[in-house]
Amino acid sequence: MALDVGVVGVGMIGQEHVRRLDGGPGGSRVVAVADADAARAADVAGRLPAAKALPGGAELIASDAVDAVVVTSWGPTHEEYVLACIAAGKPVFCEKPLATSQEATRRIVDAEVAAGRRLVQVGFNRRYDPAHRALKQAVDSGVIGAPLLVHCAHRNASVPPHYTRDMSIADTAVHEIDELRWLCGQEITAVQVLTPRKSSRGGELQDPLLVLFELADGVLADVEVSVNVHYGYEIRCEVSGETGTVQLADPAPVHIRREGAVAGLVPADWRERFALSYDIELREWVDTVAAGRPPAGPGAWDGHVAQVVSDAALRSLHEGGRVLVELPSPPGLYAPAAA
Ligand code: NAP
Repeated sequence: MALDVGVVGVGMIGQEHVRRLDGGPGGSRVVAVADADAARAADVAGRLPAAKALPGGAELIASDAVDAVVVTSWGPTHEEYVLACIAAGKPVFCEKPLATSQEATRRIVDAEVAAGRRLVQVGFNRRYDPAHRALKQAVDSGVIGAPLLVHCAHRNASVPPHYTRDMSIADTAVHEIDELRWLCGQEITAVQVLTPRKSSRGGELQDPLLVLFELADGVLADVEVSVNVHYGYEIRCEVSGETGTVQLADPAPVHIRREGAVAGLVPADWRERFALSYDIELREWVDTVAAGRPPAGPGAWDGHVAQVVSDAALRSLHEGGRVLVELPSPPGLYAPAAA
């Protein structure tokens, strides 16, 4: 069955997702878009065969023409739109972060629990990246023995002018927070943010950061977050186990050897590095919700837990020191299905 999708927020990633959702292989089409910038919404709708630009996200979510909603507006607007989707009984794919405080993500969890069914998926796209999936498969297979340490780096070439110090955690490292929980199958129990010498290219930002995570089984993970490296976009992850190590391979498709040196291209940004992950993520989401099933990807609970850890990391960034992460038990709605 075809899925008619409405997209709220058609900036950078919104337009990327529109391109994938309209006439995509899953049989979806984009029938409505809305954006704070009405001219941008009209421009995007004008390039699509079946889409209308609607005056706002609330109208889009209420529209009878829209079966399911993708929220790709800016983080502080997510809570309002996701809650409206739950109230309307419509499946919603919300880009990360699910919301910008743990109180807000908890309200979303509570609304979904009260509705009695899972409607929310969060855009933690690393779970769909073939390289990350191969990394997890290697860890789960036991080929490196029990994991002991994880080393990650999240490096952006640059960030936009409105990017703030807290976004290094809440918008950037939130990907690693979800990745570590998923990869290791363990909750994060404590976090500490260390602040090395500041890059002279980072302006007011505290850049880079080193974030240390402790997991429930004793694994330690270190994450470098650098957002002004200029040379490109780079995501690294290596897991060190009792009998071996496994790491993401260099994403360059070729290496050139000439004049005594080896060169391989570094992706320019997240669009290039993770294109395939977004294809798979949205394809699986469309297939699942079009079939009337609850979304199978990271859900509201995962978005909430990531926010609790993110808030703890922000506390460490602001006040210093190691901060314990206190998680309540997940409501029954999020219990894994019996095998
Ligand atoms: P962006 O380029 O600024 O796009 C956001 C769009 O939403 C803009 O057109 C903005 O309009 C619009 N908007 C703002 N407030 C709105 C509202 N109340 N209702 C409707 N539209 C509104 O940002 P982006 O980089 O695409 O990021 C959007 C979201 O995706 C963020 O949560 C970000 O963290 C996430 N993201 C995820 C990934 C990933 O790898 N999963 C990658 C990139 C971004 P104005 O410009 O007029 O404010």
